[in-house]
This record gives sequence, structure tokens and C-alpha cells, in this order.
Amino acid sequence: MSANLDEKISPLYDAILRRNPGEIEFHQAVREVLETLGPVVAKRPEFVHAKIIERLCEPERQLIFRVPWTDDSGEIHVNRGFRVEFSSTLGPYKGGLRFHPSVNLGIVKFLGFEQIFKNALTGLPIGGGKGGSDFDPKGRSDAEIMRFCQSFMTELYRHLGEYTDVPAGDIGVGGREIGYLFGQYKRITNRYESGVLTGKGLNWGGAQVRKEATGYGSVLFTAEMLRARGDSLEGRRVAVSGSGNVAIYSIEKAQQLGANVVTCSDSSGYVVDEKGVDLELLKQIKEVERGRVSDYALRRGHDARFIPDSSVWEVPCDVALPSATQNELTGSDAAALVRNGVRAVAEGANMPTTPEGVRVFAEAGVAFAPGKAANAGGVATSALEMQQNASRDSWTFAHTEERLAGIMRHIHDTCYETAERYGRPGDYVAGANIAGFEAVAEAMTAQGL
Ligand code: GLU
Repeated sequence: MSANLDEKISPLYDAILRRNPGEIEFHQAVREVLETLGPVVAKRPEFVHAKIIERLCEPERQLIFRVPWTDDSGEIHVNRGFRVEFSSTLGPYKGGLRFHPSVNLGIVKFLGFEQIFKNALTGLPIGGGKGGSDFDPKGRSDAEIMRFCQSFMTELYRHLGEYTDVPAGDIGVGGREIGYLFGQYKRITNRYESGVLTGKGLNWGGAQVRKEATGYGSVLFTAEMLRARGDSLEGRRVAVSGSGNVAIYSIEKAQQLGANVVTCSDSSGYVVDEKGVDLELLKQIKEVERGRVSDYALRRGHDARFIPDSSVWEVPCDVALPSATQNELTGSDAAALVRNGVRAVAEGANMPTTPEGVRVFAEAGVAFAPGKAANAGGVATSALEMQQNASRDSWTFAHTEERLAGIMRHIHDTCYETAERYGRPGDYVAGANIAGFEAVAEAMTAQGL
């Protein structure tokens, strides 16, 4: 029997391990949810009877396909594409595409599994899914990216649709890639089906605030957590990891709320900038030139230092926003942050904190927001994009941002109140898992087998 798991749940988890060998990130994501569900199965025998946990941990459909493409020199490459359609209980499958060499079935399943609960927490009508490829976009020309996206969509299009499955971006997939994917979908189907992808360009069906939404949302969630403790972001020192879309717009919103953001990072190291990150320079390097954070340090001059091959979490801060990738913040990183006085941590990335890291924060009483709550602003704004596409409308930046802020407040309050109701005050991990699970489980029970 596995420790920390309820005696009814432990055999289910063991069966999931046996059935999905080697998928370590998927095991980790499942375990983290199941560890908090003991009190729910005790209170809701109907969920046990309906085998909700067994059903939820098995994706409705898993697609794996070949993606052949030619590089600029004419050489042929073969990558692997994935789409895991996990749950359509609350709406069409919804979740991003990740293009990164680390992508495999276990990674896509962990992301798709988390997406079910995240999407449920938004209160909007979206199911859970995720996809991607082990394609490495680093160093590829624009024409190569376009050919890869076209080949990927040539297979995937038959599984998509605004009422069926609606992908968006994730690591390695931004506005440029969504454009190429949408163009190919439109060409093959001869339909201008705007709602089949989200994260589109603003002048062809995209939504205001979508680009900013994940980062903005995670900072708004942090502000809510601090407010619940009589604290605020004003004047706080913030450490952010990553330098992609989530990191950049976390920095922007934290600065707007009066915080001093002193770091950003990429796979080669981190930058510490005591005067506060120069966002315009960072955007120029990352969004326009597609460069590295080491370039940022060089151009920023003596104010900023680049520290190669080290963890950003050694920098003392009041608030930590891990916004790069899974398992980037370990138990020893968490211990260093606690020693240096961190008060709040919110996961902008998906599962960036290892289980040991989560335990260290919980024991130290640090306010900790799991990704499925903190970073739900991105997918929530995707659902708003679908809503605008369905009504052939487009909203202003101010109106959309107000909707996002309302959704993040709603997610915060739901997690907070659910944790209290189940005797775990202040435990946002339990609150998010239980609230997300209850919403999906109730709908699954109502819809029958
Ligand atoms: N990839 C994002 C996430 O992890 C966004 C997904 C979406 O907008 O569908 O939630």
C-alpha cells in the first residue's frame, strides 16, 4: 500500500502504475490528486460506486501519429505527434500543444490529466486534453516551423472541431505556430471555423488578453492569496523563473501591482536584476529576436548579472513564481526559498514544484498555489475566445481583463472555501483538487456511463 493514500484509493493507484508503465510525470500528477481525495470518497460513496477515479484516470482517447517534414536543406525528419483527449464531461476537449524534445506520452498525459481539473475550476464549459510533439523548434527557420505545423495539422485536423477538440499553445507553440496550424486546418476543411483553435491573432479571431492571460492570472491569484492573509504584492521582491509567455506577463502584472521582479531564466541559467527587470528589453529579446536571457544581461549592462547553470531559487525573495516547466523547483530549492523568507509561491507553469518541494512549503506554512488553480487564467481566456468566436464578437482589452480577474477571484475563493469545508484551511492543493474533482465527478455521475 502506498503511504499518504487512503486505503480505498491506494489499490486504484497501484493499478494505474501497472497499466501505465514508465510514465513517471503522469504517475506524479495522478498521485498528487489522489492523495487529497480520501475525505471526498468517504463523504461521497456514489463516486466510488460509479468508479469515477478509475474512469477519470483513463483518457477517453489517445492519439499518436507520425509527423514527417523536410528541413531547409531538403533532409527528411520524422517526429511523433500526440493528442490525448482526456475528458469531455464538461465541454469539448481543451488544452494546449507542446513542441519540445522532452515530449512523450507520459508528459502529454500528465498535462492532460491536470487540464481536466484546471478547466473545471474555471467554471467554464471546457473538457480536458493536451497534445504536442517531440519536435525541437530551437534553431529552426520560420519556413521549417511552418512546414512542421502543416504536417502536424494534416494528421490532427480529423480529430478537431469547435464542438469536439480545441487546441491552443503551450511550450514551443505561440501565436506564430497557431497561425500556421489554423491556416492548414482551414485549407484542408474549407471552413473558417474560428473556434477550433485558441490563441489566434487579434485581427483573425483571437481574443484580447489571451497572450497575457496565464501570467496575469497567476499574479492575480497570488494577490488574492496574499489578501486572504492580510498581505499584498506592493513593494514585495518577486523571483520569476522562465522567460516565455507565462514568465513575461507574470512580470508585467507583478510590476503593475507594485512588486519588484528581480529574476528571469532559461535553460542555460538565470538573470538577477536588482533594479527590477526591464520588461521592454526582455520582450524585445524574447518575443521579437527569439534570443536568450544571457543577451538580456549583456544589453542591460552593469545592473544585471547572468548566472549560468544555476537555479534561480537561490535568489532571496518574498514571492516565487515558477513559470518555466515541470519539476524545476525541487525540495532543496524550496528549503532555500523558505530559509530566505518566501511567503507565497504560485505555479505559473504546470507542475513545476516536485512533491518534496510542495511538502517543504506546506510544512513551513507558505501560501502555495498549484498550477491547476494559479495558471488557469490562460485556458479560461481561451474559453472566452471560443465564446467570442461562437457569437462572432470581439471584446475590448479592459472588458476581457475584468472577466479574467473575476474568474481568478472565483477560482481562489472556490479553492479556499473547499479546503475549509474539508478541514484543510489554507491548503490550496487540496482545495483545487477536491473542487475540480467534485465538479467533474458530479457531471460524470449525471451523464451515466
Ligand atoms: N497550455 C495552457 C495550459 O496549460 C493553455 C491551454 C489552452 O488555452 O487551451 O493551460
